[in-house]
Amino acid sequence: MANGSERMDRLVSLCKRRGFIFQSSEIYGGTGSVWDYGPLGVELQRNVKEAWWRSMVHERDDIEGLDAAILMHPRVWEASGHVAGFTDPLVDCRTCKARFRADHLDSAQCPRKPSRHPGEHTECSLTEPRQFNLMFKTFMGPVEEDAAVIYLRPETAQGSYVNFHNVLTSARQRIPFGIAQVGKAFRNEITPGNFIFRTREFEQMEMQFFVEPGTDDEWYEYWKAKRMEWVQSLGITPSKLRFHEHGPGELAHYAKTAVDIEYEFPFGWSEFEGIHNRTDFDLRRHQEYSGKKMEYIDPVDRNKRYIPYVVETAVGVGRVVLAALADAYVEEELEGETRVVMRLHPKLAPTKVAVMPLVKKDGMPELATELNRALRAAAIPTFYDDAGSIGRRYRRQDEAGTPWCVTIDGQTMEDRTVTVRHRDTLAQERIGADHLVRWVRERLV
Ligand code: ATP
Repeated sequence: MANGSERMDRLVSLCKRRGFIFQSSEIYGGTGSVWDYGPLGVELQRNVKEAWWRSMVHERDDIEGLDAAILMHPRVWEASGHVAGFTDPLVDCRTCKARFRADHLDSAQCPRKPSRHPGEHTECSLTEPRQFNLMFKTFMGPVEEDAAVIYLRPETAQGSYVNFHNVLTSARQRIPFGIAQVGKAFRNEITPGNFIFRTREFEQMEMQFFVEPGTDDEWYEYWKAKRMEWVQSLGITPSKLRFHEHGPGELAHYAKTAVDIEYEFPFGWSEFEGIHNRTDFDLRRHQEYSGKKMEYIDPVDRNKRYIPYVVETAVGVGRVVLAALADAYVEEELEGETRVVMRLHPKLAPTKVAVMPLVKKDGMPELATELNRALRAAAIPTFYDDAGSIGRRYRRQDEAGTPWCVTIDGQTMEDRTVTVRHRDTLAQERIGADHLVRWVRERLV
């Protein structure tokens, strides 16, 4: 099997060829670190978000959904600490004009001598680090002046904090309870890269769980375990997952404790989800900056009032997509040829079933079309393919990660059974055409 960077190159090229992910504005030479999801990618991405929403919101009665706006009052970002502190240390090289994160020099390459890190080549001349704010700024309204500055949110979390009381009272919740959001966030990263791993525009799935102070450590452990369980439920290889607990020097300004769930990407172990004990930092600061009370009053014992602590779970949609793609990508020898197969979990697979008439005659296309319609009517995404040899058609579906190919053949015309071919085992079985919808549905949970 190829090494990490070759594997990554092959994955990126498959993603483009098969319509998972394209570079943004490619015809203009591309936009730095911004990506577009193609027909297969958008389905995979939706399936990831759906799986998250289901486990966080639909299956629980203690978490409510929210969709806060990307643009927020600029004071929000002063209160949250982002204006003052959401910075990375930046260094420039006076010789080659490249820019690096001062804290990532040992994983960066010197553009003049890629086997060395920046600063290690005799010609490198690095500036002193200076702090660079990662928030994108724009202007609200027609006048571009300081008073009109507004930010693109760098995290969805603040939308949940400022709506804490709105959700609490409108949904008649009690502590402990959570607010879940899926939405875009923007960070002007100094050194984005590794395909969709670090981008400037990305989507987050974040949940803020509000708890009574003193119970926060317990809830932190609870969410740590729950989130690992969720990732594994997507079929990601357990041995490629681990926790990385943050030491004191690594903690964000708001965190008491923090742990990352890391995945062994082709480029090495890296974070794809963070679980943070944010204490009462954010709500307390919003109380201070807005002048509005952020307290919770216990409905049973009204003398019991406190600003809740928050345990946050924060994961990027793109990083889950990348982990799922990297984990699924397999090259194997089959009948003297290399078979590329994406072993995506059926619930993540963009296309669930490929419907194939064996030949384009003898009533097979008509029956295949009927079955295809029945599957689509049941909201099961399909692909109808009658072009080329059956082997070639199977290979195309293997690359797209389609778990099942259904072939309509001579026997179908006699007894209304079809052949179902399984992507991973290559096993084939015959099942009644009229049971197909139920058969597929049962395998998608
Ligand atoms: P990193 O250390 O990789 O910069 P972070 O610790 O700053 O990430 P958080 O602020 O905890 O990340 O954000 C929560 C999640 O959002 C991350 O675990 C990651 O999945 C996702 N995320 C953060 N920054 C980016 C980015 N630039 N591109 C894609 N996803 C991101």
